[in-house]
Amino acid sequence: MQQVVAIIGGGPGGLMCAYQISQNFKDKKIVLFEKRALGNRIRVSGNGRCNFSNLHNSATHYNDPQFVQEVLDDFLTHREQIYRDLGLYYHYDSEGRGYPLTNSALTVLNILKRAIKNKVMIVDDEIIEVEENSQYVLKGKKQNYEADILILAYGNIAYGNDINSFYHLSESLNLALTPLRSSLCPIKCDGNFKKLEGKRVKATATLIKDQSLIVKEQGEVLFKKDGLSGICIFNLASFIAHDYQNLDSYTISLDLVPSLNKDDLNQLFKNSKDVLFDLQKILLDEVAKEVYSRYTKMKNKIVLSDLIKDFQYKVIALYPYQDSQVISGGVALDTIDPHTLRVKNHHRLYALGELLDVDGVSGGYNIEWAFASAYRVSKLL
Ligand SMILES: Cc1cc2nc3c(=O)[nH]c(=O)nc-3n(C[C@H](O)[C@H](O)[C@H](O)COP(=O)(O)OP(=O)(O)OC[C@H]3O[C@@H](n4cnc5c(N)ncnc54)[C@H](O)[C@@H]3O)c2cc1C
Repeated sequence: MQQVVAIIGGGPGGLMCAYQISQNFKDKKIVLFEKRALGNRIRVSGNGRCNFSNLHNSATHYNDPQFVQEVLDDFLTHREQIYRDLGLYYHYDSEGRGYPLTNSALTVLNILKRAIKNKVMIVDDEIIEVEENSQYVLKGKKQNYEADILILAYGNIAYGNDINSFYHLSESLNLALTPLRSSLCPIKCDGNFKKLEGKRVKATATLIKDQSLIVKEQGEVLFKKDGLSGICIFNLASFIAHDYQNLDSYTISLDLVPSLNKDDLNQLFKNSKDVLFDLQKILLDEVAKEVYSRYTKMKNKIVLSDLIKDFQYKVIALYPYQDSQVISGGVALDTIDPHTLRVKNHHRLYALGELLDVDGVSGGYNIEWAFASAYRVSKLL
């Protein structure tokens, strides 16, 4: 009898896995379950451009380099060929971020969808729970299904994936989960953001824990109504997510004008007759007013150039998971065979992508992990 391989989740991981299995195992019937639209997160990724790869990808960009290493390196060795076989043409920007040549996420999605057309059965249903007997019985909202091999690619709780359904399905499979936290997300901070909301500055953002520098990122910082956002802030959030119990000890320091050094600034403010006006020469009005307001409160205790180069915000919280691009935490890695990504103590159960307790920083690493883990699972079924 033809073996049935069921994949729960049609994100980048599930789609890539379905495609690779259809190439490697022509004798198997592949069924892909998706409760929403296929690749719904691909569509919105990279601001609609889908940053799906990174030229500099390596295990060090993930929370658990040791676990990721073998699977990732194998994928990276074959990456060019895999993307070429798919018909995925792409380019890397100056920072190594990989996008489709069209700069449209839809191109990536359409290519993946076309690659599985007529080879994979797509079922529009939500799998509520799974029973493991001699076969897997997948209990869907619409009906039940049977499968010989089950691949879990149902992502995590970011971007509208219902948290209760996620836990319910995972519990029915006896998966061990580590705590789930927002990872690439805005950061709620202590400060006065009223007039700053919506304003953007090109800054250097430094994450400080108790007086020690943890990481420095450059980029655009967006002021929210109660905190900071932007890709560089997301990357700081990912560090805090992995040390969440010490959240209180983190501060973000912004260099609000990285293009000018302290001497330049001191020159500008030397003998200044109108400090606010001079601040407005180098900062947006609202930002200048905020700096000025702090400066007047701290007068005589701080040099203005120091304040501009080290504008601090105390971290209060990470934004909720609904606002997070990526979640840290997931299926505990010590319950997964790192070579095959098989769930230990189950013969024919595999997990991949963001469902696993693997997360990377911003820059294409997360989709590429979904691809890499899918590639590995599909090879060794
Ligand atoms: C706004 C935004 C921008 C992003 N930009 C980037 C980027 O540029 N680069 C990057 O690398 N990463 C980016 N990410 C992160 C990236 O999208 C994820 O890491 C990646 O999609 C994870 O792939 P996955 O296949 O493991 O899971 P998902 O993409 O989450 O796919 C899982 C799928 O399973 C489906 N599903 C869930 N439960 C069930 C069920 N019970 N039954 C049936 N179907 C189910 C879901 O609907 C979903 O389609 C972004 C995320 C967001 C939200």
